[in-house]
Amino acid sequence: MQYNHRMTEQQKLNSAADANSLRSLVAEILLLLDQEWQPSEWNLSKQPVDELVGTILSQNTSDTNTHRAFTSLKSAYPDWQSVIQANTEDVIETIRSGGLANQKAPRIQAVLREVVDEGDSDPNATLLARLERMSPSEAMNWLSSFNGIGPKTAACVLLFGVGQPVVPVDTHVHRVARRIGLIGPRVSAERAHEDLLDIVPDEDSYRFHMHLIHHGRRTCKSRVPSCDTCVLSSVCDYQRFEAATELSAKQS
Ligand code: SF4
Repeated sequence: MQYNHRMTEQQKLNSAADANSLRSLVAEILLLLDQEWQPSEWNLSKQPVDELVGTILSQNTSDTNTHRAFTSLKSAYPDWQSVIQANTEDVIETIRSGGLANQKAPRIQAVLREVVDEGDSDPNATLLARLERMSPSEAMNWLSSFNGIGPKTAACVLLFGVGQPVVPVDTHVHRVARRIGLIGPRVSAERAHEDLLDIVPDEDSYRFHMHLIHHGRRTCKSRVPSCDTCVLSSVCDYQRFEAATELSAKQS
């Protein structure tokens, strides 16, 4: 028992040391990426219901289609209560330009029923106050408990609609974080939300999210990353592995 207890304590120390070195790595990455591009100011809408609906509409489609479907929904109905009460077929037609309308319309109506109270004249303010009373983890768990709301959607609502320090993990953030070595090679995007929350400082969550998306789109692309011109090459696990593989191939 004594031995196990010691091991547990040692494991805790190792894990704390790992987390500290990853936090230092995050700081270094942010400084390097600042040289490449400056993200805009943290654009906080304070409209979590709008963010929630917008993020559901953005699932598996482009920003342009999302914007088109969201604008169409907002102009077709005077308020969110009207969307809840509308015929689902009509909502499907209204958001058809956003893609997957047959899934998204009932999903939006179901989520709105959970978060919008009948007779509430300002559901954005009500939901904002509710989420602000929760810790980021509690808010993530609560939002993720609704059908069709995963950690990425929940994190987008909290980051952009409430200003909570969370890191939405989309395909770019997930790929870049794995390649650099901030998360393990087999860590899922869902799990990465928790892991990154632990190592990214609260005040840097928006900057980190925006930087990794930008870097993933421009440099660390899915099929062929541009490691030769990448500002992160000196701190990246993937680049170290590639360089070592190349060297051993030359020597053999
Ligand atoms: S060095 Fe290559 S793999 Fe690493 S972050 Fe840059 S582009 Fe991506």
